[in-house]
Amino acid sequence: MDRPRDRSGLEMDREEMLQLAQQVAELLVGRLDNLPGEVAWDGDFKESLQDRFMEAPPEDGRPAGDVLTRAAREILPLAARIDHPRFFGFVPSSPTWPGVLADFMVAGHQVNQCTWLTSSGPSQLELVVIDWIRRWVGYPEGAGGLLTSGGSVATITALVAAREAAARGGPPTVYMSDQSHSAQIRAARIVGVEREHVRLVASDRRFRIDLEALADAVAADRAAGLSPIAVCANAGAGSTGSIDPMPELADFCGAEGMWLHVDAAYGGFAVITERGRKLLRGMERADSIGLDAHKWFFQPYEAGCLMVKDVNTLEDAFAVPHDMLQDTIWGAGHPNFSDRGPQLSRSVRALKIWVSVQTFGMGAFRRAVSHGMELAARAEDYIRSSPMLEMLNPTSLGIVCFRINPAEAGLGESALDEINRQVLASIFWDGRAFISSTMLHGTFSLRLCILNHTTTWDDVRETLEAIERNGGAACGSAEG
Ligand SMILES: *Cc1c(COP(=O)(O)O)cnc(C)c1O
Repeated sequence: MDRPRDRSGLEMDREEMLQLAQQVAELLVGRLDNLPGEVAWDGDFKESLQDRFMEAPPEDGRPAGDVLTRAAREILPLAARIDHPRFFGFVPSSPTWPGVLADFMVAGHQVNQCTWLTSSGPSQLELVVIDWIRRWVGYPEGAGGLLTSGGSVATITALVAAREAAARGGPPTVYMSDQSHSAQIRAARIVGVEREHVRLVASDRRFRIDLEALADAVAADRAAGLSPIAVCANAGAGSTGSIDPMPELADFCGAEGMWLHVDAAYGGFAVITERGRKLLRGMERADSIGLDAHKWFFQPYEAGCLMVKDVNTLEDAFAVPHDMLQDTIWGAGHPNFSDRGPQLSRSVRALKIWVSVQTFGMGAFRRAVSHGMELAARAEDYIRSSPMLEMLNPTSLGIVCFRINPAEAGLGESALDEINRQVLASIFWDGRAFISSTMLHGTFSLRLCILNHTTTWDDVRETLEAIERNGGAACGSAEG
Protein backbone atom coordinates (compact mmCIF):
# COMPACT_ATOMS: atom_id res chain seq x y z
CA MET A 1 0.00 0.00 0.00
CA ASP A 2 1.26 3.48 -0.83
CA ARG A 3 2.06 5.69 2.10
CA PRO A 4 -0.23 8.67 2.10
CA ARG A 5 1.80 11.67 0.93
CA ASP A 6 1.78 15.32 1.60
CA ARG A 7 0.38 15.30 5.05
CA SER A 8 2.39 18.40 5.91
CA GLY A 9 2.68 19.87 2.44
CA LEU A 10 6.50 19.63 2.50
CA GLU A 11 6.82 16.63 0.19
CA MET A 12 7.06 16.43 -3.58
CA ASP A 13 6.20 13.75 -6.06
CA ARG A 14 9.08 11.82 -7.54
CA GLU A 15 8.69 13.13 -11.10
CA GLU A 16 8.98 16.69 -9.88
CA MET A 17 11.95 15.79 -7.68
CA LEU A 18 13.82 14.23 -10.59
CA GLN A 19 12.97 17.05 -12.92
CA LEU A 20 14.20 19.67 -10.42
CA ALA A 21 17.45 17.79 -9.88
CA GLN A 22 17.98 17.71 -13.63
CA GLN A 23 17.25 21.42 -13.84
CA VAL A 24 19.79 22.21 -11.10
CA ALA A 25 22.42 19.98 -12.73
CA GLU A 26 21.91 21.82 -16.01
CA LEU A 27 22.22 25.21 -14.34
CA LEU A 28 25.50 24.15 -12.70
CA VAL A 29 27.06 22.52 -15.74
CA GLY A 30 25.98 25.47 -17.89
CA ARG A 31 27.63 27.79 -15.40
CA LEU A 32 30.90 25.88 -15.67
CA ASP A 33 30.73 25.97 -19.49
CA ASN A 34 30.36 29.74 -19.46
CA LEU A 35 32.69 30.54 -16.57
CA PRO A 36 35.96 31.21 -18.48
CA GLY A 37 34.21 33.86 -20.61
CA GLU A 38 32.59 35.57 -17.64
CA VAL A 39 33.96 38.05 -15.12
CA ALA A 40 35.96 36.58 -12.25
CA TRP A 41 34.06 38.65 -9.71
CA ASP A 42 30.61 40.12 -9.45
CA GLY A 43 28.93 41.88 -6.58
CA ASP A 44 26.89 44.88 -5.59
CA PHE A 45 26.40 47.31 -2.75
CA LYS A 46 24.01 46.75 0.14
CA GLU A 47 21.49 49.35 -0.95
CA SER A 48 20.75 47.69 -4.25
CA LEU A 49 20.77 44.15 -2.86
CA GLN A 50 18.55 45.00 0.05
CA ASP A 51 15.97 46.51 -2.28
CA ARG A 52 16.05 43.47 -4.50
CA PHE A 53 15.93 40.73 -1.93
CA MET A 54 14.48 41.96 1.35
CA GLU A 55 10.97 40.58 1.62
CA ALA A 56 8.70 38.80 4.05
CA PRO A 57 8.69 35.02 3.64
CA PRO A 58 5.69 34.17 1.44
CA GLU A 59 2.75 32.48 3.12
CA ASP A 60 2.07 30.35 0.07
CA GLY A 61 4.76 28.71 -1.98
CA ARG A 62 5.92 29.31 -5.54
CA PRO A 63 7.11 26.77 -8.11
CA ALA A 64 10.45 25.33 -6.92
CA GLY A 65 11.95 25.51 -10.42
CA ASP A 66 11.43 29.29 -10.47
CA VAL A 67 12.87 29.71 -6.99
CA LEU A 68 15.97 27.64 -7.75
CA THR A 69 16.49 29.41 -11.07
CA ARG A 70 16.28 32.74 -9.31
CA ALA A 71 18.95 31.59 -6.85
CA ALA A 72 21.21 30.48 -9.70
CA ARG A 73 20.71 33.64 -11.79
CA GLU A 74 20.30 36.43 -9.26
CA ILE A 75 21.85 35.46 -5.94
CA LEU A 76 24.72 32.99 -6.22
CA PRO A 77 26.50 34.79 -9.10
CA LEU A 78 26.91 37.94 -6.98
CA ALA A 79 30.13 36.58 -5.58
CA ALA A 80 33.79 36.11 -6.19
CA ARG A 81 34.04 33.23 -8.65
CA ILE A 82 36.69 31.45 -6.63
CA ASP A 83 36.69 28.63 -9.19
CA HIS A 84 37.16 30.94 -12.19
CA PRO A 85 40.36 30.11 -14.11
CA ARG A 86 41.51 33.74 -13.76
CA PHE A 87 40.64 34.11 -10.07
CA PHE A 88 44.05 34.57 -8.40
CA GLY A 89 42.99 36.39 -5.22
CA PHE A 90 43.19 35.11 -1.64
CA VAL A 91 43.10 31.30 -2.05
CA PRO A 92 41.24 30.03 -5.11
CA SER A 93 39.97 26.52 -5.72
CA SER A 94 37.82 24.71 -8.19
CA PRO A 95 35.90 21.72 -6.84
CA THR A 96 35.69 18.49 -8.80
CA TRP A 97 32.21 17.66 -10.08
CA PRO A 98 32.11 14.30 -8.26
CA GLY A 99 32.97 16.21 -5.07
CA VAL A 100 30.01 18.54 -5.68
CA LEU A 101 27.70 15.59 -6.30
CA ALA A 102 28.98 13.87 -3.15
CA ASP A 103 27.81 16.87 -1.09
CA PHE A 104 24.42 16.60 -2.81
CA MET A 105 24.23 12.91 -1.93
CA VAL A 106 25.25 13.58 1.65
CA ALA A 107 22.49 16.16 2.02
CA GLY A 108 20.04 13.73 0.48
CA HIS A 109 20.94 11.02 2.98
CA GLN A 110 20.75 13.29 6.02
CA VAL A 111 23.42 11.32 7.85
CA ASN A 112 24.42 12.78 11.20
CA GLN A 113 28.03 11.79 11.54
CA CYS A 114 28.39 12.52 15.23
CA THR A 115 28.59 8.96 16.50
CA TRP A 116 29.38 5.47 15.26
CA LEU A 117 25.82 4.37 16.00
CA THR A 118 24.30 7.07 13.81
CA SER A 119 26.83 6.68 10.98
CA SER A 120 29.05 3.61 11.00
CA GLY A 121 29.63 3.58 7.22
CA PRO A 122 30.47 7.28 6.95
CA SER A 123 32.52 7.11 10.17
CA GLN A 124 34.57 4.26 8.74
CA LEU A 125 34.95 6.29 5.55
CA GLU A 126 36.24 9.28 7.53
CA LEU A 127 38.77 6.93 9.16
CA VAL A 128 39.86 5.85 5.68
CA VAL A 129 40.27 9.41 4.40
CA ILE A 130 42.05 10.45 7.61
CA ASP A 131 44.37 7.49 7.14
CA TRP A 132 45.15 8.62 3.57
CA ILE A 133 45.97 12.09 4.83
CA ARG A 134 48.01 10.58 7.69
CA ARG A 135 50.23 8.81 5.16
CA TRP A 136 50.49 11.86 2.90
CA VAL A 137 51.71 14.12 5.71
CA GLY A 138 54.07 11.40 6.97
CA TYR A 139 52.45 10.79 10.35
CA PRO A 140 52.94 7.45 12.14
CA GLU A 141 50.24 4.93 12.94
CA GLY A 142 48.34 6.06 16.00
CA ALA A 143 48.01 9.51 14.50
CA GLY A 144 44.50 10.49 13.53
CA GLY A 145 42.14 13.38 13.32
CA LEU A 146 38.89 14.60 11.95
CA LEU A 147 37.42 16.63 9.16
CA THR A 148 36.34 20.14 10.12
CA SER A 149 34.65 23.08 8.47
CA GLY A 150 38.08 24.49 7.65
CA GLY A 151 41.50 25.59 8.84
CA SER A 152 40.05 27.94 11.44
CA VAL A 153 38.20 25.22 13.32
CA ALA A 154 41.16 22.87 12.82
CA THR A 155 43.35 25.34 14.75
CA ILE A 156 40.76 25.95 17.45
CA THR A 157 40.49 22.20 17.92
CA ALA A 158 44.28 21.76 18.00
CA LEU A 159 44.74 24.55 20.53
CA VAL A 160 42.11 23.04 22.84
CA ALA A 161 44.11 19.79 22.76
CA ALA A 162 47.32 21.77 23.36
CA ARG A 163 45.80 23.63 26.29
CA GLU A 164 44.48 20.43 27.87
CA ALA A 165 47.82 18.65 27.37
CA ALA A 166 49.81 21.51 28.90
CA ALA A 167 50.86 21.50 32.55
CA ARG A 168 48.70 23.77 34.69
CA GLY A 169 50.42 27.03 35.48
CA GLY A 170 50.16 30.73 34.85
CA PRO A 171 48.10 32.30 32.09
CA PRO A 172 48.73 30.55 28.74
CA THR A 173 50.63 32.17 25.88
CA VAL A 174 50.72 31.16 22.19
CA TYR A 175 53.40 32.09 19.63
CA MET A 176 53.27 32.56 15.88
CA SER A 177 55.00 34.75 13.36
CA ASP A 178 53.79 38.15 12.24
CA GLN A 179 52.88 36.41 8.95
CA SER A 180 50.34 34.08 10.55
CA HIS A 181 46.75 34.02 9.39
CA SER A 182 44.15 35.95 11.38
CA ALA A 183 42.46 32.56 11.91
CA GLN A 184 45.40 31.52 14.13
CA ILE A 185 45.13 34.62 16.28
CA ARG A 186 41.37 34.19 16.56
CA ALA A 187 41.77 30.52 17.47
CA ALA A 188 44.14 31.43 20.30
CA ARG A 189 41.64 33.98 21.61
CA ILE A 190 38.78 31.50 21.38
CA VAL A 191 40.60 28.92 23.49
CA GLY A 192 41.09 31.49 26.22
CA VAL A 193 44.48 33.02 25.52
CA GLU A 194 44.29 36.72 26.40
CA ARG A 195 44.75 39.08 23.47
CA GLU A 196 48.00 40.41 24.89
CA HIS A 197 49.32 36.87 25.35
CA VAL A 198 49.11 35.99 21.65
CA ARG A 199 52.71 36.68 20.66
CA LEU A 200 53.38 37.70 17.07
CA VAL A 201 57.06 36.97 16.62
CA ALA A 202 59.05 38.88 13.96
CA SER A 203 59.67 37.15 10.66
CA ASP A 204 62.94 37.21 8.72
CA ARG A 205 63.44 38.69 5.23
CA ARG A 206 61.92 35.56 3.68
CA PHE A 207 58.89 35.85 5.99
CA ARG A 208 59.78 32.85 8.19
CA ILE A 209 59.54 33.04 11.95
CA ASP A 210 62.72 34.35 13.60
CA LEU A 211 63.81 31.50 15.88
CA GLU A 212 65.91 33.67 18.17
CA ALA A 213 63.08 36.11 18.68
CA LEU A 214 60.80 33.17 19.43
CA ALA A 215 63.19 31.73 22.01
CA ASP A 216 63.58 35.16 23.64
CA ALA A 217 59.82 35.66 23.83
CA VAL A 218 59.24 32.25 25.41
CA ALA A 219 62.03 32.77 27.94
CA ALA A 220 60.75 36.22 28.88
CA ASP A 221 57.22 34.90 29.32
CA ARG A 222 58.35 32.02 31.51
CA ALA A 223 60.34 34.44 33.63
CA ALA A 224 57.17 36.53 34.01
CA GLY A 225 55.19 33.53 35.29
CA LEU A 226 53.21 32.89 32.10
CA SER A 227 52.72 29.41 30.58
CA PRO A 228 53.85 29.09 26.95
CA ILE A 229 51.66 26.29 25.58
CA ALA A 230 51.96 26.27 21.81
CA VAL A 231 53.64 27.54 18.65
CA CYS A 232 51.55 27.88 15.48
CA ALA A 233 53.86 27.48 12.50
CA ASN A 234 53.12 28.38 8.88
CA ALA A 235 53.40 25.84 6.09
CA GLY A 236 52.27 28.19 3.43
CA ALA A 237 51.73 31.59 5.08
CA GLY A 238 48.84 33.40 3.45
CA SER A 239 50.72 36.44 2.16
CA THR A 240 53.79 34.81 0.64
CA GLY A 241 53.48 31.03 0.93
CA SER A 242 56.51 31.07 3.21
CA ILE A 243 57.26 27.96 5.24
CA ASP A 244 58.59 28.27 8.79
CA PRO A 245 61.67 26.17 9.63
CA MET A 246 59.93 22.98 10.70
CA PRO A 247 62.78 20.82 12.06
CA GLU A 248 64.09 23.70 14.20
CA LEU A 249 60.62 24.48 15.51
CA ALA A 250 60.02 20.81 16.32
CA ASP A 251 63.32 20.70 18.24
CA PHE A 252 62.47 23.89 20.08
CA CYS A 253 58.95 22.86 21.03
CA GLY A 254 60.19 19.40 22.09
CA ALA A 255 62.78 20.94 24.39
CA GLU A 256 60.31 23.48 25.80
CA GLY A 257 57.45 21.00 26.25
CA MET A 258 55.25 23.08 23.96
CA TRP A 259 52.71 21.92 21.38
CA LEU A 260 53.63 22.55 17.75
CA HIS A 261 50.66 23.16 15.47
CA VAL A 262 51.23 23.68 11.75
CA ASP A 263 48.83 25.87 9.80
CA ALA A 264 49.03 24.19 6.40
CA ALA A 265 45.48 25.23 5.51
CA TYR A 266 46.14 26.20 1.92
CA GLY A 267 49.64 24.80 1.35
CA GLY A 268 49.52 21.43 3.07
CA PHE A 269 48.21 19.32 0.22
CA ALA A 270 51.35 20.17 -1.77
CA VAL A 271 52.73 17.29 0.29
CA ILE A 272 51.23 14.82 -2.20
CA THR A 273 53.80 15.95 -4.79
CA GLU A 274 57.51 15.20 -4.59
CA ARG A 275 58.43 18.87 -4.70
CA GLY A 276 55.90 19.76 -2.03
CA ARG A 277 57.05 16.96 0.23
CA LYS A 278 60.61 18.28 0.10
CA LEU A 279 59.47 21.82 0.85
CA LEU A 280 57.34 20.70 3.79
CA ARG A 281 59.90 18.32 5.26
CA GLY A 282 59.77 18.31 9.05
CA MET A 283 56.04 19.10 9.15
CA GLU A 284 55.48 15.48 10.22
CA ARG A 285 57.24 16.22 13.51
CA ALA A 286 54.51 18.62 14.61
CA ASP A 287 51.88 17.63 17.18
CA SER A 288 49.12 18.71 14.83
CA ILE A 289 48.58 19.90 11.28
CA GLY A 290 45.57 21.68 9.78
CA LEU A 291 44.91 21.32 6.04
CA ASP A 292 42.02 22.45 3.83
CA ALA A 293 40.82 20.05 1.16
CA HIS A 294 38.58 22.90 -0.08
CA LYS A 295 41.73 24.70 -1.23
CA TRP A 296 44.55 22.70 -2.85
CA PHE A 297 42.62 19.43 -2.92
CA PHE A 298 39.79 20.73 -5.09
CA GLN A 299 36.75 20.08 -2.91
CA PRO A 300 33.64 22.15 -2.25
CA TYR A 301 33.57 24.10 1.00
CA GLU A 302 33.62 22.93 3.80
CA ALA A 303 36.43 20.41 3.83
CA GLY A 304 39.06 21.16 6.47
CA CYS A 305 41.09 18.58 8.31
CA LEU A 306 42.94 18.45 11.60
CA MET A 307 45.57 15.75 11.97
CA VAL A 308 47.11 15.07 15.39
CA LYS A 309 50.11 12.92 16.03
CA ASP A 310 48.42 11.17 18.95
CA VAL A 311 44.69 10.92 18.41
CA ASN A 312 44.13 10.29 22.12
CA THR A 313 45.06 13.90 22.81
CA LEU A 314 41.94 14.94 20.91
CA GLU A 315 39.62 12.54 22.66
CA ASP A 316 41.10 13.45 26.06
CA ALA A 317 40.29 17.08 25.30
CA PHE A 318 36.84 16.73 23.75
CA ALA A 319 35.03 13.57 24.94
CA VAL A 320 32.18 14.39 27.31
CA PRO A 321 29.87 11.50 28.25
CA HIS A 322 26.18 12.33 28.32
CA ASP A 323 23.31 10.20 29.65
CA MET A 324 21.20 10.80 26.57
CA LEU A 325 24.01 9.54 24.35
CA GLN A 326 24.85 6.45 26.44
CA ASP A 327 23.65 4.13 23.66
CA THR A 328 26.22 5.50 21.28
CA ILE A 329 29.28 4.10 23.04
CA TRP A 330 30.42 1.13 21.00
CA GLY A 331 33.85 0.82 22.53
CA ALA A 332 37.40 0.65 21.23
CA GLY A 333 37.83 1.12 17.51
CA HIS A 334 34.41 2.73 17.08
CA PRO A 335 35.15 6.41 17.37
CA ASN A 336 32.42 8.93 17.87
CA PHE A 337 33.75 11.85 15.85
CA SER A 338 31.88 14.24 18.12
CA ASP A 339 34.45 13.21 20.78
CA ARG A 340 37.26 14.67 18.67
CA GLY A 341 36.11 18.22 18.12
CA PRO A 342 33.55 20.93 18.85
CA GLN A 343 30.69 19.68 16.63
CA LEU A 344 27.98 17.23 17.60
CA SER A 345 25.76 17.15 14.51
CA ARG A 346 28.21 16.81 11.63
CA SER A 347 27.91 16.39 7.90
CA VAL A 348 29.77 13.64 6.01
CA ARG A 349 32.76 15.60 4.78
CA ALA A 350 34.81 12.54 3.89
CA LEU A 351 32.55 11.49 1.04
CA LYS A 352 33.52 14.27 -1.36
CA ILE A 353 37.22 13.60 -0.85
CA TRP A 354 36.76 9.85 -1.19
CA VAL A 355 34.52 10.07 -4.28
CA SER A 356 36.92 12.47 -6.05
CA VAL A 357 40.01 10.37 -5.32
CA GLN A 358 38.21 7.16 -6.31
CA THR A 359 37.08 8.79 -9.55
CA PHE A 360 40.27 10.46 -10.73
CA GLY A 361 43.03 8.63 -8.85
CA MET A 362 45.93 10.18 -6.98
CA GLY A 363 47.95 10.62 -10.18
CA ALA A 364 45.46 13.22 -11.34
CA PHE A 365 45.54 15.03 -7.99
CA ARG A 366 49.33 15.08 -7.98
CA ARG A 367 49.40 16.48 -11.51
CA ALA A 368 46.78 19.09 -10.58
CA VAL A 369 48.78 20.32 -7.56
CA SER A 370 52.04 20.31 -9.55
CA HIS A 371 50.30 22.27 -12.31
CA GLY A 372 49.69 25.15 -9.88
CA MET A 373 53.32 25.17 -8.73
CA GLU A 374 54.55 25.09 -12.34
CA LEU A 375 52.32 28.00 -13.38
CA ALA A 376 53.52 30.00 -10.37
CA ALA A 377 57.14 29.34 -11.37
CA ARG A 378 56.39 30.45 -14.93
CA ALA A 379 54.73 33.59 -13.60
CA GLU A 380 57.89 34.33 -11.61
CA ASP A 381 60.04 33.92 -14.76
CA TYR A 382 57.71 36.22 -16.67
CA ILE A 383 57.85 38.87 -13.93
CA ARG A 384 61.65 38.68 -13.64
CA SER A 385 62.02 39.30 -17.35
CA SER A 386 59.48 42.14 -17.48
CA PRO A 387 60.90 45.68 -17.42
CA MET A 388 57.63 46.82 -15.83
CA LEU A 389 57.41 44.32 -12.95
CA GLU A 390 59.47 43.43 -9.89
CA MET A 391 59.36 40.24 -7.80
CA LEU A 392 59.11 41.04 -4.08
CA ASN A 393 59.72 37.53 -2.73
CA PRO A 394 60.58 34.19 -4.35
CA THR A 395 57.48 32.20 -5.30
CA SER A 396 56.45 29.62 -2.71
CA LEU A 397 53.64 27.04 -2.80
CA GLY A 398 51.76 28.73 -5.64
CA ILE A 399 51.96 32.32 -4.34
CA VAL A 400 53.64 35.08 -6.36
CA CYS A 401 54.29 38.47 -4.72
CA PHE A 402 55.34 41.28 -7.04
CA ARG A 403 54.64 44.86 -7.99
CA ILE A 404 54.80 47.34 -10.79
CA ASN A 405 58.18 49.04 -10.65
CA PRO A 406 59.44 50.15 -14.07
CA ALA A 407 63.21 49.86 -14.00
CA GLU A 408 63.84 53.20 -15.72
CA ALA A 409 61.36 55.32 -13.81
CA GLY A 410 63.16 55.39 -10.45
CA LEU A 411 59.91 55.97 -8.58
CA GLY A 412 59.88 56.40 -4.80
CA GLU A 413 58.09 54.03 -2.42
CA SER A 414 54.99 56.15 -1.95
CA ALA A 415 54.54 56.68 -5.71
CA LEU A 416 54.94 52.93 -6.27
CA ASP A 417 52.44 52.24 -3.55
CA GLU A 418 49.92 54.56 -5.18
CA ILE A 419 50.46 53.14 -8.69
CA ASN A 420 50.11 49.55 -7.54
CA ARG A 421 46.91 50.33 -5.66
CA GLN A 422 45.52 52.00 -8.77
CA VAL A 423 46.36 49.00 -10.92
CA LEU A 424 44.82 46.60 -8.41
CA ALA A 425 41.61 48.64 -8.60
CA SER A 426 41.71 48.76 -12.41
CA ILE A 427 42.04 44.96 -12.65
CA PHE A 428 39.22 44.56 -10.15
CA TRP A 429 36.77 46.80 -11.98
CA ASP A 430 37.71 45.37 -15.36
CA GLY A 431 36.63 41.98 -14.02
CA ARG A 432 38.37 39.67 -16.49
CA ALA A 433 40.73 38.52 -13.76
CA PHE A 434 40.78 38.85 -9.99
CA ILE A 435 43.96 39.46 -8.04
CA SER A 436 44.48 40.63 -4.47
CA SER A 437 47.22 42.39 -2.56
CA THR A 438 49.11 42.16 0.68
CA MET A 439 51.69 44.04 2.74
CA LEU A 440 55.22 42.62 2.93
CA HIS A 441 56.93 44.15 5.96
CA GLY A 442 55.23 47.41 5.07
CA THR A 443 55.61 47.25 1.27
CA PHE A 444 52.44 47.08 -0.81
CA SER A 445 52.50 43.94 -2.95
CA LEU A 446 50.31 42.52 -5.67
CA ARG A 447 49.74 38.82 -5.10
CA LEU A 448 48.71 35.93 -7.31
CA CYS A 449 47.71 32.61 -5.78
CA ILE A 450 47.75 30.03 -8.56
CA LEU A 451 46.20 26.77 -7.40
CA ASN A 452 43.23 26.18 -9.65
CA HIS A 453 43.58 23.07 -11.82
CA THR A 454 41.49 24.72 -14.57
CA THR A 455 43.87 27.69 -14.89
CA THR A 456 46.03 27.71 -18.03
CA TRP A 457 49.28 29.55 -18.75
CA ASP A 458 47.31 31.84 -21.08
CA ASP A 459 45.10 32.84 -18.14
CA VAL A 460 48.17 33.75 -16.08
CA ARG A 461 50.02 35.44 -18.94
CA GLU A 462 47.04 37.53 -20.05
CA THR A 463 46.54 38.67 -16.46
CA LEU A 464 50.20 39.68 -16.13
CA GLU A 465 49.99 41.48 -19.49
CA ALA A 466 46.94 43.41 -18.30
CA ILE A 467 48.81 44.38 -15.13
CA GLU A 468 51.77 45.58 -17.22
CA ARG A 469 49.47 47.57 -19.53
CA ASN A 470 47.55 49.17 -16.69
CA GLY A 471 50.84 49.77 -14.87
CA GLY A 472 52.19 51.61 -17.90
CA ALA A 473 49.09 53.80 -18.01
CA ALA A 474 49.24 54.51 -14.27
CA CYS A 475 52.94 55.43 -14.47
CA GLY A 476 52.21 57.67 -17.43
CA SER A 477 49.52 59.57 -15.58
CA ALA A 478 51.69 59.74 -12.44
CA GLU A 479 54.44 61.45 -14.48
CA GLY A 480 52.08 63.63 -16.50
C1 LIG B 1 42.30 29.60 4.53
C2 LIG B 1 43.35 29.68 5.56
C3 LIG B 1 43.05 29.64 6.92
C4 LIG B 1 41.62 29.58 7.42
O1 LIG B 1 41.01 28.39 7.03
P1 LIG B 1 39.42 28.31 6.78
O2 LIG B 1 39.28 27.05 6.00
O3 LIG B 1 39.05 29.52 6.00
O4 LIG B 1 38.77 28.27 8.11
C5 LIG B 1 44.09 29.67 7.82
N1 LIG B 1 45.37 29.76 7.41
C6 LIG B 1 45.70 29.81 6.10
C7 LIG B 1 47.14 29.91 5.71
C8 LIG B 1 44.70 29.78 5.14
O5 LIG B 1 45.03 29.82 3.84
